[in-house]
Amino acid sequence: MNDDIDLLVLGGGSGGIACARRAARYGAKVAVVESGLLGGTCVNVGCVPKKLMWHAAQLAHAAADAEGYGFDRLEPRLNWTGLVTRREAYLRRLNGIYQHNLESDDVAIIAGQGRFVDAHTVAVAGRQLRAQRILIATGSRPLWPALPGTELGTDSNGFFALTRQPRRVTLVGSGYIAVELAGMMRALGSQVSLLLRRDSVLNHFDPMLGEILCDEMHAAGIELHFRSQVQSVRREGSELFITTDTAGELASEVLIWAIGREPNTTGLELSAAGLDLGAKGEIVVDKFQVTSQPHIFAVGDVSGAPELTPVAIAAGRRLADRIFGGQDERRLDYGLIPSVVFSHPPIGTVGLSEPQARARYGEQVRVYESRFKSLYTSLLEEKVQSAVKLVVEGPQERIVGLHTIGPGSDEMLQGFAVALAMGATKRDFDDTIAIHPTASEELVTLN
Ligand code: FAD
Ligand code: NDP
Repeated sequence: MNDDIDLLVLGGGSGGIACARRAARYGAKVAVVESGLLGGTCVNVGCVPKKLMWHAAQLAHAAADAEGYGFDRLEPRLNWTGLVTRREAYLRRLNGIYQHNLESDDVAIIAGQGRFVDAHTVAVAGRQLRAQRILIATGSRPLWPALPGTELGTDSNGFFALTRQPRRVTLVGSGYIAVELAGMMRALGSQVSLLLRRDSVLNHFDPMLGEILCDEMHAAGIELHFRSQVQSVRREGSELFITTDTAGELASEVLIWAIGREPNTTGLELSAAGLDLGAKGEIVVDKFQVTSQPHIFAVGDVSGAPELTPVAIAAGRRLADRIFGGQDERRLDYGLIPSVVFSHPPIGTVGLSEPQARARYGEQVRVYESRFKSLYTSLLEEKVQSAVKLVVEGPQERIVGLHTIGPGSDEMLQGFAVALAMGATKRDFDDTIAIHPTASEELVTLN
C-alpha cells in the first residue's frame, strides 16, 4: 500500500495531466493511471489529428483556388497512407513528450485500467494504490445508436484508423464532429453524405452559423439529407446500405456515427467509492470540482463539462492551485468559453447566441451583423460566404455574444474572447482601429 500518494489521477488526458503536473510543481506526490496512450482523446483521436487532417484539406482548397490567382491548374493527388503515416508518427512523438514532461515533474505514470476498491483505494494492473485525494479525468466516448446493423458503422476513433481513403463516406449527426469530418473528407476528394435529424447543423449555436455552413457544404458538393434518421444498416460485399426514413437507401463505403459523446465511467466501479452519476452518466461535481466525496474530484468530459480540451485543462490546473497551491477560491468559471469549429469554412463563437440572449435579456438585446465575401475569394469563381455577428445587451451595449464564419475565423477568435472576458462594449469595438484588409476588421466596423 502506498499511503503516501497525495493525488492519484485516473486518466492521463487533457485534464488529468494538467492537474497532475500543476500539483506536482506545488510539491505534491502525484501518480497518473492511464489505460491507453498518454494525451487522451485530444492528442490521439481528437483535436490534434483532426487539425492535421483539416490542414491537409486546406491545402486541397488552396490547390483548387490556385488557378484563380494565375497559376497553372493544380491537381495534386493525395497519398492517404503518406498523410496518415506522418500524422501518426507526429502523435507518437507527442506521446513521448507527454511522458517526458510528467517524468520531469516527478509524476509517476502507471499503465493500466484503474477501478475503485474503496473511497481511498484504486486497483490497477494487479496493484492497490491508496491516496489522500483522487481525481477522476477519464474523459468521454462516442455514442452509438441502437438499431439493426449499427456495428457496421464506426465513430471518430474509427475515422482516425482508416488506412485507405474511402471513396464514399456517410456521416450521421449535426454537431462538431459531423461537420468537421464532412468538410475535410469532401475537400480531400471523397463523396460525402450527411444525415441530419433536424433542419440544420450546429443547432446549439447561433442560427446564422448553421444556415451559412449548410449553404457552403451544399456548394462544396456534400449531400445533405435533412430530417433523416437511419433505420438500419446492412453490408453487401464492400458496400454498406443505409436505410433511412426519409432519404431512401444510401450506399456507402464507410458510415460514421457522430451523434455526441457520453462520460466514460466504464469499469471504474464508482459505487465502491460511494459516488453517484448524474442524469447523463456524468460524475456530479460542485463548482470546485468536488464529487459527493470531499476528497474525490472530477474534471473534463467525465464531469459533464463542455467537451473541450482547454476547459478540461483549465479545470484541472485550477483544482491543483486550490488544493495544493493555497488558492482557496480558485476554480473555473464555465461562462464565456470560446470555441472554434474546424468546418469548411471555419467558425468561431463565444458567448450567447442571439436566441439565448433574447431569452435572457429580452428587449435589451440588439444585434449587429455583416455578411460578406472575403477579399481572398474575389479572384475565384467559387465565392465562400463569410459573416460576423455581435449580440449586445443593455444601454451600454455590452457584448454578450460574438459569432463568425468564414476563412480566418479560427485564428480570429482568441483575441476577441479576451475582450469579451474583460466586459467589452460595442463602443470599445467601434473605438478600435481596424486592420485592413482582413476579415476580422468587420467586427470593429459594424453599424
Ligand atoms: P481525455 O483527454 O479523453 O482523457 C481521458 C483519459 O482517461 C484517456 O486517455 C483514457 O484512456 C483514460 N482512461 C479512461 N478510463 C480510464 C481508467 N479507468 N483508468 C485509467 N485511464 C482511463 N476539443 C477542443 O478543444 N478542440 C478540438 O479541436 C477538439 N477536437 C476534437 C475532435 C474529436 C474527433 C474529438 C472526439 C474530440 C475533440 N475535442 C476537441 C474534445 C477534446 O478532445 C476533449 O474535450 C478532451 O480530450 C477531454 O479531456 P479529458 O481530460 O476530459 O479526457
Ligand atoms: P455534438 O454534441 O457536437 O453533436 C452531436 C449532435 O448529433 C447532437 O447535437 C444532435 O444534434 C445530433 N444527434 C444526437 N443524437 C442523434 C441521433 N440519434 N441521430 C442523429 N443525430 C443525432 O457531438 P459530437 O459527437 O459532434 O462531438 C462531441 C463533442 O466533442 C462536442 O460536443 C465538442 O464539445 C467536442 N468536439 C470539439 C471540437 C472542437 O472544439 N472543434 C471538434 C470535435 C468535437 P440535433 O439535436 O441538432 O439533432
